[in-house]
Amino acid sequence: MPREPRFDLLFQPVRIGPKTARNRFYQVPHCSGMGYDRPNTLAAMRGVKAEGGWAVVSTEYCSIDPRSDDTPYPYATLWDDGDIRAHGKMTEAVHRHGSLAAVELWLGGDSVSNLNSRTAPLSLSGAPVMRVDPLQARVLDRDDIREIRRWHVEAARRALSAGFDIVYVYACHHYLLHTFLSPIANCRKDEYGGSTSNRIRLIRELLTDVKETVGDKAAVALRWSADSGTEAGEALDPERLEMAALLSGLPDLWDVTIDDYGREMGVSRFFKEGGLEDKVAQFRKAVSGPIVTVGRYTSPESMLRLIKSGTADFIGAARPSIADPFLPRKIEEGRLDEIRECIGCNICYAHNSLNAPIRCTQNPTMGEEWRRGWHPEIVSGAAARSRVLVVGGGPAGLEAALTFGRRGFDVALAERERRLGGRINLKAMLPGFAEWARVRDWRESRLAALPNVEIYRESEMSADAVLELGAAHVVVATGAHWRKDGFGRLTPTPPLAPETANLHAPEEVIQGALSGSAGPVLIYDDERYVMASALALKLLGEGISVIYVTPAPIVSEWTSHTNEQPMIQAQLMERGARLIFGQVLAGFDGSAVELTCLYTGRKQRIQAAALVPVTARQPERALYETLHACKDDWAAAGIRSVDLIGDAEAPGTIAHAVYSGHKLAREIDAATPNAPVPRDRAA
Ligand code: ADP
Ligand code: SF4
Repeated sequence: MPREPRFDLLFQPVRIGPKTARNRFYQVPHCSGMGYDRPNTLAAMRGVKAEGGWAVVSTEYCSIDPRSDDTPYPYATLWDDGDIRAHGKMTEAVHRHGSLAAVELWLGGDSVSNLNSRTAPLSLSGAPVMRVDPLQARVLDRDDIREIRRWHVEAARRALSAGFDIVYVYACHHYLLHTFLSPIANCRKDEYGGSTSNRIRLIRELLTDVKETVGDKAAVALRWSADSGTEAGEALDPERLEMAALLSGLPDLWDVTIDDYGREMGVSRFFKEGGLEDKVAQFRKAVSGPIVTVGRYTSPESMLRLIKSGTADFIGAARPSIADPFLPRKIEEGRLDEIRECIGCNICYAHNSLNAPIRCTQNPTMGEEWRRGWHPEIVSGAAARSRVLVVGGGPAGLEAALTFGRRGFDVALAERERRLGGRINLKAMLPGFAEWARVRDWRESRLAALPNVEIYRESEMSADAVLELGAAHVVVATGAHWRKDGFGRLTPTPPLAPETANLHAPEEVIQGALSGSAGPVLIYDDERYVMASALALKLLGEGISVIYVTPAPIVSEWTSHTNEQPMIQAQLMERGARLIFGQVLAGFDGSAVELTCLYTGRKQRIQAAALVPVTARQPERALYETLHACKDDWAAAGIRSVDLIGDAEAPGTIAHAVYSGHKLAREIDAATPNAPVPRDRAA
């Protein structure tokens, strides 16, 4: 189907200095959890983005000297000529599809601790490093500034050898060059500190040096923060605008963001599409040259608005390109309903912080392009056209049914409830979580387009019903429910009797069991992800007082990885929740909760009108176990396999469930399912 003519604007070529991007879709630099360690994995992942229509595909942060070493997090390197070959794999994969490859030269300053290289981090003030290591940075001297210029020149030369088309000077995200801009962090008394023009001197020099080095063989981009921490809707810092105006004309492209990284890549709970637009619109007036900016744009209408208004020249994307590497192609080919929209959960970002390759809740193929050879749009045909029964229509069952359906199996999807979606239906009811419903909606709409998939709603499957149906492959995706007995990582002996009065599971609270309660409600969080704090915010929003208790030292501890923890904790504090840390659940009698101090073992009792333990989930394995108990009957029923996926196998994030459904459906008829995958070690 041809694209609608009004979207032609998005497919105009745009010049970036000596290079031309074939359209306005630009994958800005984003971390991948792969870094210098996994060059083949990285090249395949970036190559798929180019194939999907992104006209520019960038690396992650690429260190240009061992003094910028982000260990334990994975980052790219251009430290010496030995790094060129690895990057060449990526540029080759990107060029194969007619796209431009960009590299983001990076110096971490005091954001890194150089744990691997064991060199002293560099900074302007010599303050303790930001990573909370017992270490201070070395104060930059004039020789260091000369070195910084030399490193950029050499890295730019290597970038050309590796085949890059765009070379970045990276002056934001609180890394070294960014700190030069600040009148507080930049305490230098020489020509690199003090006045506005002095504080941008080094960036000017680097732009000039890199430009001279690459000549007309590559464009030079500046990644820049347009504000200095102003709130949404507020006018930009005039000095930052003046700095940009003074640099205008030097970079071939402005990659514009803001100081607050938590907002720039904010989770959808707190930040919606196009969150930076008002800032970038103000910035636009200060500079000449093309601008790229991000805003988790997944709606083609919003993209049109951004370009038509003149605010930016490119649709910048990290997450939308992760959730759907083929987003541009789908718009270009008039397949808007096939766009798999990012849900803004930041599971992708979390895995960089966990030193693991990137993954995505919506796109199970992300990060598996090389190791497993998975393509986001292509699946192999079924080896034989056999029948599959998927029991359970949550994220795991939906993804399995969809992938089996795409492969050409005859699929029956049976769901106990009227509505498909499983746990998504409840999660999306929590304040701020509406976009998470995209996991359900996208799959449901794609399933509807497959004639070989039948959906049976309000169809609870027993083992007898499964045997009667007689599918060749049975997939049990029956999910899990929250436990009420308090069993958890620190409470292996359950401390609660589930029938105790005023004890509620998270599902009950979402469905309104505590609405109208006088409170206080004590929420005990040993999951440490989003559920407990989201329940707390729901109840606080209804005017119910909340006591939030966790063994962790902070609220929703794991959400530090998704970059939302500070916002969650701030919201709980601002709305008056009482926060208690370092305590383990010991009991509840219906009116008082008993807690044990994690450190001293001392006990305390806290009065509460209700207790909500958020500790662990119980997999729904009954159907699977009953089927396995009657394995002798399978052959007569025509059943060849019964598999367990998603929460029913091992409760985890929605990303876990989607991945497990996808993997089973890809591999069920493989000659060697679960064969070892190659390790990416060779550059
Ligand atoms: P996951 O994230 O692993 O997909 P969910 O809990 O979100 O798990 O979804 C499980 C789904 O399975 C729910 O929608 C639930 O109603 C459904 N389900 C559970 N048991 C049965 C059954 N015996 N027959 C049909 N559907 C079932
Ligand atoms: Fe979007 Fe979540 Fe996928 Fe990241 S993991 S791209 S935030 S859906």
